Amino acid sequence: MKPIIETYSLEQLADIVKELGLPQFRTRQIAAWLYAKNAASYDDMSDLSKLLRGTLAEECPLVRPRIVDQQASNDGTRKFVLELHDGVLVETVGIPSEDGRLTVCCSSQSGCAMNCAFCATGRSGFRRNLLPGEIAEQVPIVSDQLDQRVSNVVMMGQGEPFANYSNAINALHIMNHPKLLGIGARRITVSTCGVIPGIKRFSQEPEQFTLAISLHSAVQETRDHLMPGVTNYPLLELRKTVQDYLDKTDRRVTFEYALMRGINDSPRELEALIDFCSGMLCHVNLIPLNEISDSSFHPVTHKRMQEWCDQLNAAGVNATIRNSRGSDIAGACGQLANSYANHR
Ligand code: SAH
Repeated sequence: MKPIIETYSLEQLADIVKELGLPQFRTRQIAAWLYAKNAASYDDMSDLSKLLRGTLAEECPLVRPRIVDQQASNDGTRKFVLELHDGVLVETVGIPSEDGRLTVCCSSQSGCAMNCAFCATGRSGFRRNLLPGEIAEQVPIVSDQLDQRVSNVVMMGQGEPFANYSNAINALHIMNHPKLLGIGARRITVSTCGVIPGIKRFSQEPEQFTLAISLHSAVQETRDHLMPGVTNYPLLELRKTVQDYLDKTDRRVTFEYALMRGINDSPRELEALIDFCSGMLCHVNLIPLNEISDSSFHPVTHKRMQEWCDQLNAAGVNATIRNSRGSDIAGACGQLANSYANHR
């Protein structure tokens, strides 16, 4: 089978258009149908001739993912399980908020190879990297389903975006393009578990995308235990890389920290976190741990969470508690496990 069109970046799409001997404006036209208008098939592309539509369908078929399952949370969060053209499943989440925003939490891989001990995504293993359009099209799919414009994107779904760097960045270009999805770079956040070469590359990107880093502990031993996939990227080096990122971009970095009872919630851990953050333009996002099945990790009380938040702020480290949404439908942080597949 020929590669489907959603696998292409905008640059590759332009190459295809060139190879077909078409004028360059066709690239924008086709991309707009694919992403801004979420066309279901080439037949929808009414400003392309029938002949051209036929050629495109032949050369690079358009196969939209099928929504094979979906769930709605009590809090309005919606989770969709998408089946891609090759049968691979991936989840994406739409999070509407009271102020009228709609955030899409998109996935960059099917499954994940990082194996964080507290996260459900890695449990089902790693299937494959998603390609640029497969990541980007999650935005118009959610937008259509909720009948609302998407205002923000967080690449915090399945997968490690910096283990799939070029595809993830090429997806961001589609999302950010004013004529395509038109989402401002500052409203797009990419979260990494701390893949240092990725952070270095990201600091070179000209757009003002936002960077979030899953920290979960500033004590090396604890972090190694919780996040075995990044033991090669030690905290000292991570801190230095973030410093360099800040020097280059002057854009505040978010550290995600899911508090787990008896694991990373001790006074020593708090002190280490304060030391790690001091002197850096950063923000700590404390996340209530979402319980996943057969897990030995448990959340702390809300009181504990608030104490941490207060103590961080008192120490001059900007911190807030994340309002984690969609946990009743396994749609919250760390719960995206392709549950449809597991139910079958
Ligand atoms: N691989 C990237 C993108 C995933 S983002 C990363 O690690 O940053 C998903 C976020 O949810 C990460 O911060 C992750 O550490 C966090 N998370 C994973 N499992 C969780 C759980 N059970 N409860 C709360 N947060 C969790």
